[in-house]
Amino acid sequence: TLSDRLTGVLQNLRGKGRLSEADIDATAREIRVALLEADVALPVVRTFIAKVKERAKGSEVSQALNPAQQVVKIVNEELVGILGGETRRLNLAKNPPSVIMLAGLQGAGKTTLAGKLAKWLRGQGHTPILVACDLQRPNAVTQLQVVGERAGVKVFAPEPGNGVGDPVDVARRGIEEARRSQHDVVVVDTAGRLGVDEEMMRQAADIRAAVQPDEVLFVVDAMIGQDAVNTATAFRDGVGFTGVVLTKLDGDARGGAALSVREVTGQPILFASNGEKLEDFDVFHPDRMASRILGMGDMLTLIEQAEQAFDADQAEAAAVKMGSGQLTLEDFLEQMLALRKMGPIANLLGMLPGAGQMKDQLANLDEKHLDRVQAIIRGMTPAERDDPKIINASRRLRIANGSGVRVSDVNDLVNRFFEARKMMSQMAGRFGLPGAGGGRN
Ligand code: GDP
Ligand code: MG
Repeated sequence: TLSDRLTGVLQNLRGKGRLSEADIDATAREIRVALLEADVALPVVRTFIAKVKERAKGSEVSQALNPAQQVVKIVNEELVGILGGETRRLNLAKNPPSVIMLAGLQGAGKTTLAGKLAKWLRGQGHTPILVACDLQRPNAVTQLQVVGERAGVKVFAPEPGNGVGDPVDVARRGIEEARRSQHDVVVVDTAGRLGVDEEMMRQAADIRAAVQPDEVLFVVDAMIGQDAVNTATAFRDGVGFTGVVLTKLDGDARGGAALSVREVTGQPILFASNGEKLEDFDVFHPDRMASRILGMGDMLTLIEQAEQAFDADQAEAAAVKMGSGQLTLEDFLEQMLALRKMGPIANLLGMLPGAGQMKDQLANLDEKHLDRVQAIIRGMTPAERDDPKIINASRRLRIANGSGVRVSDVNDLVNRFFEARKMMSQMAGRFGLPGAGGGRN
């Protein structure tokens, strides 16, 4: 399965201290093969691989994670991304009844889904009603009635004996009935064909136009792999839909449909069905699906913990240094750069009463200014960075020339640094930060 393959690929990276470009390329190739084998659509594979490669090679260096963990993290985040990112909730009307229309090929699982949705909606405190608009197959209406009974909800169906009814008319009357008897959600079950054809599309499009549903859910059997993408595209163009429901995920070992459908159609996956029973159904969570596909739940937890622990360590170390007045220019630079990302010191300062002014001062540094500060500090010797007190007039001149700034810029920086160090030391003393006490000032 995709999960096995990905796990294998990423485990090869374990134990590597550093990833070369060749490592990343080789890993990307393996992931590509794994995705193609899982029947993920080619354009989706391409985009995915390009993103993972770019991020793996890019400047995303995390000190909390080893390279293999970083790749896993990136792959996981990108998986969540193509699965839709955030969980998308069902869109209900402000003025009930809300109308949810189900569309898809025959056998996709629409009628079963109608029952599952009804049960789930009841659990959410709604009062759903099912409307039988599949008048194509003789026993389709009966099937919906059975499902409705099991879910404990009412089913609206055309009276028998009037010949083949008009599904658009049934849909309209079903909604009237819902209004009359105070059902707040109407689930409209429709007919499907074995293959995509014009008449089916027109019928679904007519129902949609007539009842203006709040959601049109395209129901697709995940087991059909690549075909899911083609069918989805046909329905998008022929009927249009606002969300996708994946069914038979229990039989979809490869996971390809899940990964392709959202990216190709641009519509989110709202629910997933994974069995024939009414309970085999849940809201679709991109992050959970991603970890299932990646099959690395433990690894992902480890990564999260490592990152959290690292943040805490860094903040603690920064606090100790600030408080003890041991801050060097190197630290100062690092912290300033971190501010761009609202790093530890910005957070720390934000937590200290009375530190607002200082925070503003630091936060006001614009990018250009930061670049200049960086150039100046880089132009200093390690000894100077470590103990800026030794930076006398001739050193200032040398630093200014070396980093292409004026001597007054160097003076400004050094003075601001001493001020900041003093201020931090005092604040630490006042607020009892760890390490408060002996300073170099
Ligand atoms: P429709 O033609 O789109 O209305 O599809 P049905 O609801 O009649 O379902 C077709 C078949 O698929 C039935 O035998 C269902 O029991 C089965 N089915 C539906 N959803 C699932 C699912 O999530 N998992 C499995 N294993 N079977 C399903
Ligand atoms: Mg059906």
